[in-house]
Formats: sequence, C-alpha cells, structure tokens
Amino acid sequence: MIYTLLALLLVYPEHPVPYPWQRCYDTVTEVLFYKNLDDGTIVIDLRPGGGLQLTGQSSDRHPLFGDNQDDQNSLFLFYTNCLGSMIYVIVPERVQLCPFCGRFIS
Ligand SMILES: [Zn+2]
Repeated sequence: MIYTLLALLLVYPEHPVPYPWQRCYDTVTEVLFYKNLDDGTIVIDLRPGGGLQLTGQSSDRHPLFGDNQDDQNSLFLFYTNCLGSMIYVIVPERVQLCPFCGRFIS
C-alpha cells in the first residue's frame, strides 16, 4: 500500500524501496517518482532531492515551498488527475495549489 511506501520514505529515505515499488528518475524533468509494478500507481516525489540528501543539492529549495527548512523529514500527500491519470504527489509541506496546474487542492 501507498502508506507503507510513505512510512518507509519518511524514516529511511535513502533505502531501496520494497517490491512492488520501483524508484524511478526522469532525467528530462529531473523528477523522482515511484511506480507500483503491480497496479501501475505513480507517486511523484516533489521534495527537494526527493528527500535524499544529495551532495550539493541540500540548499536547493522548490520555489513553491518557501524557506521553512525546519522539517526536513515531513511530507504530505495529495492526489491529482490533472496529468491525465490519477497520481499521488509527495510534497515537503502542505500546499493549497496543485504544482502542475495551479488549481486548488481540495
Ligand atoms: Zn493539477
């Protein structure tokens, strides 16, 4: 289930993810995401560096998320279908607007 994945990402962000999840990285959009090989669920991780402590990227902050760096390990989840199919999105803090289309998230 997706919450198992989230719990793992929260506690052990650098660990390999267990089957059926697969960690993927789109080199074109530089987006880290997770794919469920069983049911095709996509979880996009928009946290800086995908929650990984990548060398030289720790100070890069997504402009949507402000300057609050206190909660490195917090994450929030919402889902959207504005990209064509239902996807889950992980963000480092609560957002009100969809990062993809700018609509309000209910
Ligand atoms: Zn959207």
